[in-house]
Amino acid sequence: MKLAVIGAGTAGLAAARLIHQRQPHLTTTIYEKSRGLGGRAATRRREGFVFDHGAQYIKAPSAAVERFLTNELTADLLHDIGYPVWTFDQHNTITEGDRTHNADPKWVYRDGLNRLGKLLASDLDVQREVRIGRLQQISAHNHTGIGYELYHVDGQLVGVADMVLLTPPAPQIVDILNASEIDSGTRETLHAELAKAHYRRCLSLALAYDHTIERPFYALVNTDRAHPISWLGLEHKKGPERCPAGHSLLLPQMAAQFSLEHWETLTESLISLVAAQVSELLGMDLHTPLWGDVQRWRYALPASSADFATLNHTNSGLFFAGDYTIGPGRVHLAIESGWHVVEELERYLI
Ligand SMILES: Cc1cc2nc3c(=O)[nH]c(=O)nc-3n(C[C@H](O)[C@H](O)[C@H](O)COP(=O)(O)OP(=O)(O)OC[C@H]3O[C@@H](n4cnc5c(N)ncnc54)[C@H](O)[C@@H]3O)c2cc1C
Repeated sequence: MKLAVIGAGTAGLAAARLIHQRQPHLTTTIYEKSRGLGGRAATRRREGFVFDHGAQYIKAPSAAVERFLTNELTADLLHDIGYPVWTFDQHNTITEGDRTHNADPKWVYRDGLNRLGKLLASDLDVQREVRIGRLQQISAHNHTGIGYELYHVDGQLVGVADMVLLTPPAPQIVDILNASEIDSGTRETLHAELAKAHYRRCLSLALAYDHTIERPFYALVNTDRAHPISWLGLEHKKGPERCPAGHSLLLPQMAAQFSLEHWETLTESLISLVAAQVSELLGMDLHTPLWGDVQRWRYALPASSADFATLNHTNSGLFFAGDYTIGPGRVHLAIESGWHVVEELERYLI
């Protein structure tokens, strides 16, 4: 039996890793559209700086996720940021954050959060830079008689599988299904459920400085949701590996409304605009960074979710995992959704 996984983000890789351990006879191939691993748990490198421009850190509120990160995966480069997250409001008033909340570890990898994707993918067959455009349902020699051909967006056949696990953000799955030839009843059920998952956009910036910016907190979060900046990370506080000595790296992530309004704003103008807002927030002149970087996340965080059971009980050989099936966008929840879908795959295999 063959399993195809679409997407090498946290959910897809966590699922592929577990099924590979539990069902070694199953051949699993992962298709990832980009060159990197880990999806939105992403890291960029530039001029000696290392920054996480998607997810900022990982929480591990369940014992299972904590054990997984600290024991099962190699943990040499894993560490707790240690510094707290403070809050700010629309008037740039900064307040000490919640102590209980801050007592939980905030896990990051010293060389970047995309280390998680690399660790999850070790020993797995990942075909990178393969963007799946459509599926074609076919008859197969398995217990259900159903199989799928997977086609690259350029039309080329890239693989055949008995089961397909789809893990991109829901709207990107809808695009794949719209182009696919699959059973019409299954398609209707899946469309209706996937349409419930909506995402917020996020403009995520990085601003590098050739001087130190020292504060008692690692990051600031906007609590009244009335500021254009929703999050400001002091990326250099993640450890000395993150920037050259004597330098600093700020990571402003913009609120959904601001991100929508400035989606088309040119990169240089956006950097100037946000650097001015950051200057006001931190009360110092940060208008002229050494360089700035912008990542435009169209599907950053789910604002609403789709029902995991409805998606995974169509008995079609199609399966679904990802943060949008399990609540707010969090890396640890994406891991758990990958684990949950393995139970569904195993039920189908019997
Ligand atoms: C700006 C931002 C800040 C965040 N902050 C935090 C945080 O601090 N803490 C936290 O826990 N979480 C945070 N998150 C959320 C967290 O990153 C996500 O919830 C989690 O990474 C989602 O994992 P996933 O596997 O569900 O999806 P993804 O990571 O999106 O993985 C989907 C994968 O599918 C691939 N793909 C898509 N279409 C195709 C196709 N057609 N063919 C092949 N491959 C395809 C994509 O390239 C991607 O690799 C943040 C996210 C963003 C964007």
